[in-house]
Parts: sequence; C-alpha cells; structure tokens
Amino acid sequence: MDDKQKLRILSRLAAFERDESLDLESCIYMASTPKGRLPILKVMQSTMCDKNCLYCAFRRDREETPRLYISPEALAKGFMELYKSGKVKGIFLSSGIFGHPEFTMEKLVDTAKILREKYKYRDYIHLKLMPGVSLQTVEEAIKVANRVSINIETSKEERLQRIAKGKSILRDMLPKMEHISRLLENYRGKSQITQMMVGLEDEKDEEIIKVVDFLNRRFKVSRVYFSAFFPIKGTPLENRPAESPKREHRLYQVDFLIREYGFDFEELRPILKDGNLPLDVDPKTAWAEANFHIFPVELNTADYWTLIRVPGIGKETAKEIIRRRKEKKLTSPEDLKGIKNLRKILRYSTLQGRYYVKDV
Ligand code: SF4
Repeated sequence: MDDKQKLRILSRLAAFERDESLDLESCIYMASTPKGRLPILKVMQSTMCDKNCLYCAFRRDREETPRLYISPEALAKGFMELYKSGKVKGIFLSSGIFGHPEFTMEKLVDTAKILREKYKYRDYIHLKLMPGVSLQTVEEAIKVANRVSINIETSKEERLQRIAKGKSILRDMLPKMEHISRLLENYRGKSQITQMMVGLEDEKDEEIIKVVDFLNRRFKVSRVYFSAFFPIKGTPLENRPAESPKREHRLYQVDFLIREYGFDFEELRPILKDGNLPLDVDPKTAWAEANFHIFPVELNTADYWTLIRVPGIGKETAKEIIRRRKEKKLTSPEDLKGIKNLRKILRYSTLQGRYYVKDV
C-alpha cells in the first residue's frame, strides 16, 4: 500500500467513515477553530492501539479495524499536497496508542514539526495528546500546535476505569490539563479543548455540567466537545442503544452558556429534571422560566450581562440594543425593528415599563 492510500484510509477511519470508496477530500470537515470555521483534515497517525476502551473502534481486541501506520514524513507530505491545493486549512492529528504513549506522541509531534520546519506550514494544527504522556512532550506539542486536546471522555474516575481501563482522570488528565493551562499563559492564541462521550453509561447531565463548569473555570478549557454514544460493531458496547443527538445538542448549549454567558452550575441546577436537561426546551429559556422573578427585564436600563441572559438575546443583539438605546429611548417594538427573535425577547422584557409581547 502506498502512502497516499494509507493517508486516505487513516483519514476515513479518523472520521469513523466506513465507506471504502471515499477519497481523501471526502474526509475533510468544517471545524470551529480559534481562527473561525475552517476545512480541516482529521487524520490518524496510526490505527494500532494497545488499549482496549470498550466503546472505541480502534480498541486492541477489535478484529475488524484495519491496522495502519503512516510515518511523520509521509503524513506531512500528503497533507501538504492537500493544503497547497487549497482544499484544507488545517489538520487535526490523532492516533491510537501503540507502544508507550510517549513513543506515539513523539510521532505526532514529529509530524507537526516537519510541517512547521520543513514545509514552513503556518496554519492550524490540532494535536490530540495521548494519556500518560510526559509533561515535557506536552510542552513540545504546545510549541508546534495551535490547539491541543486531552479527551476526558466521562464525568467520573470510576466510570472511566470501567470503560477505558488504564486511563485516569485524577492521576493523569486533570494534572495535565492544569499544566497545559499554565503553559498556555505564555502562548497567546493557543488553546486546549477536551471531549466527553455522552450516554456511555447512565451518567446524568448534572455530572457532565459540573465537569464542564469546573474545566472552564479552573483550566480555561476553551471548549468541551460532546460526542453522543453510538454503538460500534465488534466492541463490547455494540448492543447498547445510541444516545440521542438532541441530548448532545442541549449539552453544547449549556457549555456555551457557561463559557460565553457567565452561567455556572449552581444557576443551572434548577432546570435539571432528575439530573437531566429538558430536551424539549433550550437551557436558556428553561433557566428564564425557572427564574421568572428576574423578569421582565427593562431593555432601556439592563446592563449587558443581564441583557444576554434574556432568551432570544445573544451577544450581538445585546450590543445592538445598547447602541439603539444610546440614540434614543426604546419606547415601542418599532424601536427594535429588525432585531431577531423579537417576540421571544418581549416575552421576557419591557420597554419603558410596558409589556408588549401581545402586540407583536
Ligand atoms: S486509547 Fe484511544 S484509540 Fe485506543 S482504544 Fe482507547 S479511545 Fe480508542
């Protein structure tokens, strides 16, 4: 098999694509990066893995997974061909763990170094960090990457021990994330993110939101990605039902409220029902309904942070309302013409003390 074929298959597998006929370009996906949404090639250095995580397509005991490895030189060269053609603007490099995690991680870092040094590549690199890797290699990764990630996978140590034996949130991941957050203070524009699987066990959203809140505050993790569990044939969890994508979506909305709107876990606790987010209403609306004593908010006087807590008002809308009210007092819905979600906003707000929702 030549290097091009390998790269195609490693990208396809990284995207969990089972369609053998897919070419490399079909494996490019749009990703949110610190530089905005970019077409990214997600690719694995190797699909070999010594670990046996219950949910994973690359677990050691899964016979169906093709086992491949591509050298740092070949991967960098193949990626640069795609990059020069203008089809991708970045790379997300991951891998199964083969041999010692340190050995695997060195291969990923070598690939990134070849891109930076030999090909003078200056665009986006996201490196996944292997659990168990040394702090020294973590720092090497940060030097060459724009973004690094450690996948925390689940909400509690004992859960991780059951589903991914040998990994540890408390002994490995959290200390490493703390170290990364300290290092990142010296690297402007670089960030760390993490990922959690949802629905691997019977974990509640409450547990997940607590972790998101903690990671955000303590380590300034710039984003928590969620992945709704889907069963993979040939793994011990192949018969477990897939998790609803709607649950994943609601958790993304909560992450956004914590990260961008200043909410914390205690404020969100009242919207949980039996420890889970309601699926039929977005969390910000659910929070407003649970805190009706705070509403309606007067749009002429509320500060920015109060405005963005009004359902229907995002950051841009809050700025626009402040801009308009500086020009003149907002006295009727006419003064908010062109503002999105107006009916929803007026359900939770007043203009000069008057409640207008019925008039819109
Ligand atoms: S270490 Fe990573 S690649 Fe290996 S089995 Fe676990 S989740 Fe999969």
